Amino acid sequence: MPRVRGISLVLASALLAPLPGPEAGRDCQTIVRRYTPADRDRERYTYVPFDVSAGTTALRVQYTYDREGGRNTIDLGLFEPGPLTLGTSAMRGYSGGSKSEVTLDGCTATPGYRAGPLPAGRWHVMLGLYQVAPAGVDVTLTISQTRGTPCARPRAAGSVLGTRPDQHPLSDGPRWWSGALHVHTVHSDGAETPLQVLRRAEAAGLDFVAITDHNNTTHRDDLLRDRRSLASAPLPILGEEVTTPAGHANVWGLDGGEWVDFRVRPQDRRISELTAAAHRFGALFSINHPVGECAGCSWEHDWPDGLDAMEIWNGSRGPQDGAVQLWDRLLRQGQRVTGVGASDWHREPDPIDRPHVRVLASRLDERAILEAIRRGRVIVMRDARDETPHFTVTSGGRTATVGGTIRAGTAPATLEVVAAGLVAGRVVTILSGVKLPDVVLDERGRARYEHVLKPGFVRWEVFAADGTPAAIANPVWVTP
Ligand SMILES: [Zn+2]
Ligand SMILES: [Zn+2]
Repeated sequence: MPRVRGISLVLASALLAPLPGPEAGRDCQTIVRRYTPADRDRERYTYVPFDVSAGTTALRVQYTYDREGGRNTIDLGLFEPGPLTLGTSAMRGYSGGSKSEVTLDGCTATPGYRAGPLPAGRWHVMLGLYQVAPAGVDVTLTISQTRGTPCARPRAAGSVLGTRPDQHPLSDGPRWWSGALHVHTVHSDGAETPLQVLRRAEAAGLDFVAITDHNNTTHRDDLLRDRRSLASAPLPILGEEVTTPAGHANVWGLDGGEWVDFRVRPQDRRISELTAAAHRFGALFSINHPVGECAGCSWEHDWPDGLDAMEIWNGSRGPQDGAVQLWDRLLRQGQRVTGVGASDWHREPDPIDRPHVRVLASRLDERAILEAIRRGRVIVMRDARDETPHFTVTSGGRTATVGGTIRAGTAPATLEVVAAGLVAGRVVTILSGVKLPDVVLDERGRARYEHVLKPGFVRWEVFAADGTPAAIANPVWVTP
């Protein structure tokens, strides 16, 4: 019986339930591993090797452990033969703690895992030691391999939309588009399929949806399969919630076979490699709920180089003060990080649009939307049914709006806010982190006021007449 660093390994192999055909059959093996809190501290992710034999056409991995009332939580992932290094293409799937059994064959796979040929050789089950009780935990893995007739159905190929990048049916010129930037499906811990989520977003009045399952992009396979039904649905953007042990980040704009690794701890000091990987794929990297409430949700990494955006408003309860303060600090340092908001939707009865973003883009296609987000042409809005407010700064004969720039001057600039749906609401103006006195929107939802602008930025927060937050606009930058 092999022993690996004091971990016991029990291996049983049996030929069970032969299937038709000369080489048909099923091998089943059971592996038990014990982990302690010290193991968790040493290596957050552990790998259990097993060999897949030639001719295997289906694979099933099950795992069980005593959850001890939530004190043990073990995540599951799978790697095919290949390196286990950061960013490896051997990653075959991830389901976190949401599934206790996964199956794969040539044509189908449990959501979160890639279907396709099962190469012979050394595979690894990844166990993520999210929580381990003081007494330790035994994890029992049961791995079944089936040899039968391989599935011959070719997998769907191509981009998520045949219409990408310029021909989505809703494209009709520069305007503010509404979108959800953070939603989960059955490919992680969400309750609905990608198509159901798109239909839900359509009903809410959204124009685009970035699907961001935890640590995988296999929702792409569903989007490809359902492509015909998607012709009139909101534009889907392929994303991933990169769920590291100490902070989550969204990546928007991935395509087939692309994913961004998550196996980085703060002490590894490698977080900027994840940002760089996203940028190599032409995608954006945005920190989620930087001041989160669940274990491992708050951002404990360094601030990565080239950060594109961050969530300042996650979920329907309103913007998070701590996140807004972090954002203001970055803005005061001159870092043009776009503030975004998202519902982080998982299931009913939560509304998918509370909050969401309005993005000023020339077309409704992925490239234009992502470029506009990168440039800060974004307003975070509570409700998809509200009209987009307008924020402008006029100085020296020039006018700038959200995401734009304007020159500082000695004469007062004119600031104007138009929010037709927020009559008697209140506008808070922030100049380089300093709040100006509140301005009340008149009976047409308008406010016009003057201020001398120094180099830095001006941004706005709008509250409804009942005092609840309704919109947060990204800055107009003021240059010397
Ligand atoms: Zn998250
Ligand atoms: Zn999430």
